[in-house]
Amino acid sequence: MKRDRAFEFFRRLAEENPSPTTELEYVNAYTLLVAVVLSAQATDASVNIATRELFRRVKTPRQMVEFGEDALREAIKTIGLFNTKSKNVIALSQALIERHGGEVPRTREELEDLPGVGRKTANVVLNAAFGEETFAVDTHVFRVANRTGLAPGKSPEEVEARLDKLVPQPFRHDAHHWLILHGRYTCKARLPECWRCSVADLCRYKPKTASPEVRASAARSASRGRSATRTGRGPTPRTRSEGRSRSRPTRLP
Ligand code: SF4
Repeated sequence: MKRDRAFEFFRRLAEENPSPTTELEYVNAYTLLVAVVLSAQATDASVNIATRELFRRVKTPRQMVEFGEDALREAIKTIGLFNTKSKNVIALSQALIERHGGEVPRTREELEDLPGVGRKTANVVLNAAFGEETFAVDTHVFRVANRTGLAPGKSPEEVEARLDKLVPQPFRHDAHHWLILHGRYTCKARLPECWRCSVADLCRYKPKTASPEVRASAARSASRGRSATRTGRGPTPRTRSEGRSRSRPTRLP
């Protein structure tokens, strides 16, 4: 997408939500780091349910190590991959104590060196805890960037690099939040809600989804057409090519 269109794209998302934030609940940089590690392949809502009680008791790496792996496993057992995540959180807490005096480091290299911390997690922490203009590419950001033509790429790293080049000020810090929220609530994976999308005219996705009313009306007409054909009183059946042209549009991942 060209820079002027990208500016307008984010201007509209910013108008809808002037102060976007992560939906993960946390009380400091350490609990944010833990919450992001726990959110891998899990929803923010499911993580919040588990961490709400956990973060009342545990707010520092030292408290986490004292809490222990068994208690942690029990506390987060409703989150997917809780066995591996428990091990990683205890290991990363120990590493924070041994290598960083119990503080969350502020560089990407040091963050990515911690157990269970990858590039996306480092980006979220650098952005939300330390105010850096990073672009964390999760499944929603990857989909929206590709589907809309904003910053297409074959891998999260490619999308991140394109966003980094493209996104103008004053939207750079919050861009990934807007894209996550847009993907989560409007540009959904299975059925993007194009009929109520504020950036529809800037988006290159062609088979735009019609509103529920329009789709219901089209379904009623199709159903009337089928029953009329069965009773022999309706119009002649559509040809194969006509049928194809009316079929549901292919959706990009
Ligand atoms: S128009 Fe549809 S596909 Fe394009 S960004 Fe909006 S919801 Fe997504």
